[in-house]
Amino acid sequence: MKDERIYLSLSQESGFEEEYIQKALKSNWITSGGPNVDEFENELQRYFENENFVVASNSGTSAIHLALILLDVKAGDEVICQSMTFSASANPILYQNACPIFVDSEIDTWNICPENLEIAIKDRIKKGKKPKAIIAVHLYGMPYKVDDVHLIADKYGIPIIEDSAEALGSTYKGKKCGSFGFFGILSFNGNKIITTSSGGALITNSDEIKKKAIFYATQSKDIAVHYQHSEIGYNYRMSNICAGVGLGQIKTLESNINLRQANHLFYKKIFQEVENAKLFENINNVFFSNYWLNAILLETEEIKESLRLTFEKANIESRPLWKPMHLQPIFKECPYYGNKISEELFKKGLCLPSGSNLTNTDKSRIKEVIINFFK
Ligand SMILES: *Cc1c(COP(=O)(O)O)cnc(C)c1O
Repeated sequence: MKDERIYLSLSQESGFEEEYIQKALKSNWITSGGPNVDEFENELQRYFENENFVVASNSGTSAIHLALILLDVKAGDEVICQSMTFSASANPILYQNACPIFVDSEIDTWNICPENLEIAIKDRIKKGKKPKAIIAVHLYGMPYKVDDVHLIADKYGIPIIEDSAEALGSTYKGKKCGSFGFFGILSFNGNKIITTSSGGALITNSDEIKKKAIFYATQSKDIAVHYQHSEIGYNYRMSNICAGVGLGQIKTLESNINLRQANHLFYKKIFQEVENAKLFENINNVFFSNYWLNAILLETEEIKESLRLTFEKANIESRPLWKPMHLQPIFKECPYYGNKISEELFKKGLCLPSGSNLTNTDKSRIKEVIINFFK
């Protein structure tokens, strides 16, 4: 009999979700918005020590789109985006008919490279357009170089949209990821550290902006008895049922973070013994990754692919790193600033199973594959 498949990262129920879903059903709040949504937002605001305002949306992607709309990004505007990321970071730029400008990664955090960021900004200004926003990503939960990146953004007066979709629970200098940018973004998709089945959040430090975000997310209804609209509206609000799932899930956020740290230690132990593979880690204690996903760098693309296939034979999922956006057919016309860091990472990097629900049996199977492969 074939062993059960081990996945990269699956959602896992906390057991508390049902109560909130029942409450929504019984009170007939089976719609977008509602008491669970308000409560979920309050819980998230509490998580951010009530220093931020949170808007729950129906996905992380829609939260990024809302951030661009609120920053008044329009057709023909330019928006800088980290090239190495999931396409959801960049697609909303196209929704606004704006132009993505991609920037390479640096080798320490695999995130946006401060030097290339400044080169890109200077060159775009020289070419006649100052970028309207910068989308920086905490990839796999690893904080980007917040101080360096924000210093440059501030120098040129460009707001940062902090894509923290993978980094709920991560910190930089002890401060929570999601709270650094002009906007922060979270995702509660099924594979993230906690889920609402599908959902996201926009984080801002202004109550005024929160109200405006909700206005856009609920079809931009003007104040009137009838339905009246003077701006484009969107159906981007989180559903009350999904928020119920989120309220159940948020109770396990801390324990999920601990489980992911334990997974990382499991890999650390293994890869200490392996010379030809390097585990992706915090470079120092300024950075605290939630280790949403663990990843390794192999010596060559061939070894990476061979390891991936070996995992596959054991029915264990592993996956290459995000393919940089400047290499994607859909974005091939977009300007790119950088060297070959993200391309090299893409060639040699592999993500390993890192779910909060990995069992000891799963870990033994994973370890066996790795040990035998490198023997
Ligand atoms: C998951 C993810 C998103 C999008 O979130 P959804 O909720 O799936 O729309 C955006 N950026 C990154 C880096 C992600 O991993």
